Amino acid sequence: MSGGVHWNAKEESCHIGKNAIHRIVDLESIPFVADMIYQDATSDIVAELAGEFGSHHLDPASLDLLLSFHSFLVRTDKHTILVDLCCGNDKDRPTRQAWHKRSGPFLDNLAKTGVQPSDIDFVMCTHLHADHVGWNTQLVDGAWVPTFPNAQYLFAEKELAHWQHEHDANPTEPILYGSYIDSVLPVMASGQAQLVKSNHAVAPGIHMEAAYGHTPGNVIIHVEDQNDHAILCGDAIHHPVQLAYPEWSTNFCTDPEQSRTTRMAFLSDYADTPTLILPAHFQAPDYHRIESDGKRYHFGKD
Ligand SMILES: [Zn+2]
Repeated sequence: MSGGVHWNAKEESCHIGKNAIHRIVDLESIPFVADMIYQDATSDIVAELAGEFGSHHLDPASLDLLLSFHSFLVRTDKHTILVDLCCGNDKDRPTRQAWHKRSGPFLDNLAKTGVQPSDIDFVMCTHLHADHVGWNTQLVDGAWVPTFPNAQYLFAEKELAHWQHEHDANPTEPILYGSYIDSVLPVMASGQAQLVKSNHAVAPGIHMEAAYGHTPGNVIIHVEDQNDHAILCGDAIHHPVQLAYPEWSTNFCTDPEQSRTTRMAFLSDYADTPTLILPAHFQAPDYHRIESDGKRYHFGKD
């Protein structure tokens, strides 16, 4: 099936009816050793996948997987929303060099769309891993404060409850590389956090849906208007290799079995439909519909 919404690779954006979606980059082309993410990713399999998906997704020499870290900016006629807040600047992440003590241009990239931090009405995180909450806060005069002063930060209560429990169990041993302390708790303290159900409707045509497994309260976010539909699916699909091997869960999934079930149902539901799939870590420009050949999935060709 063709048709549906088309991602404009040059503009890094698309329109879902009257809503506009832009990709806002924090980091791109970050290499990860394949079997560090997927335990079944042998070098033979990865070499074959490098041929299928191309050098912007897999480094043909090292066979490392390449990941992007970006937000999606959703603008409706009434609201300005940022989804998934990447890694952030100045964060102390000594065991993750690419994320450590950064001074990246994320807010400049946001400004290129004409949006300032004070314009953001809602911040949404599909889950609370460190690479999805980083820009929730920024360092001002030695303190972590919310980056978006007028935003409500919508946290799925099931997700927050899980990580709060983990934090409370041993508060002196920072969880999630320290991101719960520097990128979530300051938002809670500011009063800007709103805890919501996993199926929360943010605005007409924009709602969350439970997609548990990658984390206990993981959600995906639907953007719909008229007959157009996109899904900001976070890490429900982490890298295009999971189109070829949808049964692969990442080593970072809190419940790999549930993650697998969620991902396979998701792909089955939306393959061969006009729905545009916008994952949190796919490298540009591959934001497409998904097609099935009965066994594996592929990027839709229009
Ligand atoms: Zn992630």
